Amino acid sequence: MLLTQNVDGLHQRAGSDDVVDLHGRLDSVRCLHCEDRTPRAGMQTRLAECNPDRLDAVAAFAPDGDADLERENFDTFVVPECSRCGGMLKPDVVFYGENVPRPRYEKAAAALAGSDGLLVVGSSLMVYSGYRFALMAHAAGLPIALVTRGVTRADDLATLALRADCTRVLPAALG
Ligand SMILES: [Zn+2]
Repeated sequence: MLLTQNVDGLHQRAGSDDVVDLHGRLDSVRCLHCEDRTPRAGMQTRLAECNPDRLDAVAAFAPDGDADLERENFDTFVVPECSRCGGMLKPDVVFYGENVPRPRYEKAAAALAGSDGLLVVGSSLMVYSGYRFALMAHAAGLPIALVTRGVTRADDLATLALRADCTRVLPAALG
């Protein structure tokens, strides 16, 4: 199983099919009231229909999916509601300060418990939602290998730490 803190769905696009998106997915929208999930692409169409005067707005995307729109007046911006129940919609991602949904955490924890070890790739594990799995692996006596360029929060727990670019190490390991 592949456990990721990324929210971009790139692991699935790269061919991984057993993925837990710990922090959710930006390509999905969730209703806070009825939990209905819909594709973000459809939300984009609705946003455009509700805000035709905003279609020419230009913004740079940040790595976390945010976009910086300075000096915009948001008082007249129309946010579509859930088409099923009228509830408030949000990106189906875990925002800062929110908790990973319990079933998602439990699925990942069960996979770790049944694994031979933990391989951490390209993460500093500074966010607790990922670091907790290193703590769990360590407590269970599972080996932990790190492949990342900098220090990590789990350095003291690691069996092996490779300070290297994962895009170079992983292909070499497989070759
Ligand atoms: Zn709803």
